[in-house]
Amino acid sequence: MRTPLIVGNWKMNLNTREATNLVKSIFAGVRGLGGIEVVVCPSYTALSAVSSALEKTNIGLGAQNMYTEPEGAFTGEISPLMLKDLGCRFVILGHSERRAVFGEKDALINKKVLTALKYSIVPIVCVGETLEEHERRETEQVIQRQFEGTFKDLTATDWKRTVIAYEPVWAIGTGRTAMPSQAEEAHAFIRELLASRVNEVADEVRILYGGSIKPDNFGKIMAQPNVDGGLVGGASLKAESFIEIVKSSLPKNETSGIKS
Ligand code: PEP
Repeated sequence: MRTPLIVGNWKMNLNTREATNLVKSIFAGVRGLGGIEVVVCPSYTALSAVSSALEKTNIGLGAQNMYTEPEGAFTGEISPLMLKDLGCRFVILGHSERRAVFGEKDALINKKVLTALKYSIVPIVCVGETLEEHERRETEQVIQRQFEGTFKDLTATDWKRTVIAYEPVWAIGTGRTAMPSQAEEAHAFIRELLASRVNEVADEVRILYGGSIKPDNFGKIMAQPNVDGGLVGGASLKAESFIEIVKSSLPKNETSGIKS
């Protein structure tokens, strides 16, 4: 049984006050909901304030990126130890914006994934094809290449603490969401890759969908057997829409649980 996971990726938005207000409103809307895990990933500058606002809640805190080393001469970078110091339990790695805008390649993302796991931070690792690759029907090839590159050398124990996010790049921030059947096809393919690598944990690893999730389109995607949650960008910046998405992802028989 995989607990649904909804992650808000706030990207490079919100100052400290706005971020704190948002997380307080989100908590007011999701407290008491059960059988689901909720995580927010503010920008680095808001992590400390949001971490304080999240004390004594069951909403998790994540970062949007991280470097491969714990400390040292790496001007401008943030280390896993620094994230842990602020209470981060999750980190998004290999987001398509990191790949496209900052040139991150699978080998670097792989090092980051292994580093996150070494420091007990759950990596949420993004894979997904661009529009051109989608139109050339190369989705599976691209996913397989990214999977093999970013998940090298993970042990079965590592896998149990890893989250995969399938984010078709053509759906990110475009308002164009994958059809539920398209998402399921990609997620089932990822689970097959997992099974061929580490059969004993393939059923335990959570695979999130990401790409223009909105309150009115996510229920049907979430209902697919291999979709275990969502990575939400734009719609996570408004408490109402994020709360609606969390509510549309609840397991059918759950009514209570995220505690204060
Ligand atoms: C994302 O940032 O990972 C994302 C999926 O963004 P959006 O929901 O805005 O498409």
